[in-house]
Amino acid sequence: MAFELPSLDYAYDALEPHIDARTMEIHHGKHHAGYTTNLNNAIAGTELEGKSIDDILTGLDMNNAAVRNNGGGFYNHSLFWKIMTPNAGTQPSDELADAINAAFGSFESFKDAFAKAAATRFGSGWAWLCVHAGGKVEVCSTANQDNPWMPGAGCTGTPILGLDVWEHAYYLNYQNRRPDYINAFFNVINWDEVSKRYAAGK
Ligand code: MN
Repeated sequence: MAFELPSLDYAYDALEPHIDARTMEIHHGKHHAGYTTNLNNAIAGTELEGKSIDDILTGLDMNNAAVRNNGGGFYNHSLFWKIMTPNAGTQPSDELADAINAAFGSFESFKDAFAKAAATRFGSGWAWLCVHAGGKVEVCSTANQDNPWMPGAGCTGTPILGLDVWEHAYYLNYQNRRPDYINAFFNVINWDEVSKRYAAGK
């Protein structure tokens, strides 16, 4: 069965003022839709057709640019919509908060490390918070639509939080002010969802 563009759990304008409705509409309805269509086209008639996206990414031939770019794009955005919410005040679970404190010393230090990874990713890419077996968390970043599931992407572990730092994710509202977009993102993180993914991935 072909991959389908997942619908959002909230309206395009629900994340305003942090992420504007027009950006959300284009990002989901055009960019993510495009990755989805192009992924389906890239795997049609190949041995990858019918596999789960997890299996496609973990077993990826990194020289297969069409599947690398569009499979990554499909997966990364599907995660991105889920780990954001208009509901203010979600918090990391106790076990995730403990893991963040163990790795970074404090939540503020984690935020600094994540923001730095997002701000210093040159060009297009993603910043991640990943969990390793045993529960240790780590911040890293990848280029373009790569992600930690891909072999040799430069990040390992299970991604539980991801931030899109492609210009298409923020340029309409923030222009060149990527740090302001990164800071705003922290107002819309769905820590309930991130905590759930931590518990499943640890
Ligand atoms: Mn994007």
